[in-house]
Amino acid sequence: MEFTLEEMRSHLAALEARISDACKIAGRSRESVKLVWVSKFHPAEAVENAIALGATDFGENRVQEAELKFSTPRKAIDGSRVRCHVIGPVQSNKLKKAAIVADCIHSIASIEAVEKLEKVCAALPGENGAGKILDILFQINAGEEETKSGLDVHEAEAFLESLAARGQSAFPHLRFRGLMTIGKNTGVAEDSRECFAFLRNLQQKFLSKGAVFANFDQLSMGMTGDLEVAIEEGSTMIRVGTALFGERDYSKPVNDPA
Ligand SMILES: *Cc1c(COP(=O)(O)O)cnc(C)c1O
Repeated sequence: MEFTLEEMRSHLAALEARISDACKIAGRSRESVKLVWVSKFHPAEAVENAIALGATDFGENRVQEAELKFSTPRKAIDGSRVRCHVIGPVQSNKLKKAAIVADCIHSIASIEAVEKLEKVCAALPGENGAGKILDILFQINAGEEETKSGLDVHEAEAFLESLAARGQSAFPHLRFRGLMTIGKNTGVAEDSRECFAFLRNLQQKFLSKGAVFANFDQLSMGMTGDLEVAIEEGSTMIRVGTALFGERDYSKPVNDPA
């Protein structure tokens, strides 16, 4: 069962209390942490309710589901355009569709994907017909679990160095915004602290290192179970699903009408 608008309102209030407590402990402003509402497996009506409660940024794992909910431009109540973040791994043959629907892709983890995105974005109309400028983050498998996607921690630095060596002129349609990771998912939030700190150190090392990394100021980390630790370790985007929308029913994919 999906939450009603009133249920979502109280879940949002509880979540906002968690976020501001964590910001206080970390000595950070609430404005320094963006809330990305992870709407995967929840229907378009849940997205409408979220927008009514002030949501501006949504996260989806699968490109097809993102297209269903976010292909038509929408306005947030603050007047801005609602933004779609693709946060799940994207197969090479879906990168073009991802580039069309997304404002930001958090899950890029290969040079092939970067090159392909540059090519497809150059061919999209964008705002002035000169291609779309797309924000991307690199996913790091900082939890070092075999099942998780992302760049290996031991290869991440060499990967970023190779982008710096190519220079910004090789990727005129891409803005490298920072790093993303999924924590340890053990049920104990503290277990993720080390990988969040690893991410921050790597991001800080590359921030402003040449024009390629001029905008490398984002850390996408923290979910329902570990967002406080992520905020303490410098997260600028927390990706929250369950705490806002409730449990996902994986037996009912949104793009499957059956
Ligand atoms: C599903 C998902 C989330 C949201 O997780 P919750 O625990 O429901 O908050 C965040 N990030 C990614 C990459 C996800 O796939």
